[in-house]
Amino acid sequence: MGKPVVIGLTGGIGSGKSTVARMFGALGVHWVDADIVAREVVEPGTPALVRIAEHFGQDILQPDGQLDRAALRTIVFKDANEREWLEALLHPAIRDELARQLQPDNYDQPYVLLVSPLLLETDQHTLTARDIVVDVPVETQIERTMRRDNNDRDQVERIIAAQMPREHRVSRADYIIRNDQPLADVEQQVRELHQELLELFQGQ
Ligand code: ATP
Repeated sequence: MGKPVVIGLTGGIGSGKSTVARMFGALGVHWVDADIVAREVVEPGTPALVRIAEHFGQDILQPDGQLDRAALRTIVFKDANEREWLEALLHPAIRDELARQLQPDNYDQPYVLLVSPLLLETDQHTLTARDIVVDVPVETQIERTMRRDNNDRDQVERIIAAQMPREHRVSRADYIIRNDQPLADVEQQVRELHQELLELFQGQ
């Protein structure tokens, strides 16, 4: 079989990306989580972390050599130029590593999933042939995220306000999974979409 086609899976915070990814996983579909890759590219010993320490100074590292994420967040939150510098470094590094991991060896399905909250906001969507959006009403998003992370409403609302608006995200979708339903119904949507994607990309 040739290289698998890459399908994007995105949605706002707490919309159910991980839940839906696991449902595809149960059908034998491999997925790569962009949040995990974003951490991997700045692990000790990576070129990106070396550049960050050169740029911001050794104080940006913890005693064990790990990136001090809280310190970095504080800097880039205050200074848009520093944020741009960091994004110009990290986005290509993340994208390259995603592209590498999205080509697993001996993989026997016609497609793989790239699961990413920033799929449509960054150039990650240039890696994908089609994009799936996991969609729930904002109120559901707020309630589920508050419950999962033990966060207060204000904090969750601020995160949602900083993300792409729901209507905009949905307008960019090739496929929508509605996740304001019982899990069994969501699983049914996933099975149907999986079938459609198999038919579309089988033999390519
Ligand atoms: P994040 O962007 O914050 O990583 P996510 O989009 O991956 O979140 P999940 O962690 O999959 O979202 O789901 C958010 C919460 O909602 C979890 O606690 C999950 O168990 C719950 N959840 C997801 N789908 C449903 C559903 N259909 N019914 C009830 N609860 C759900």
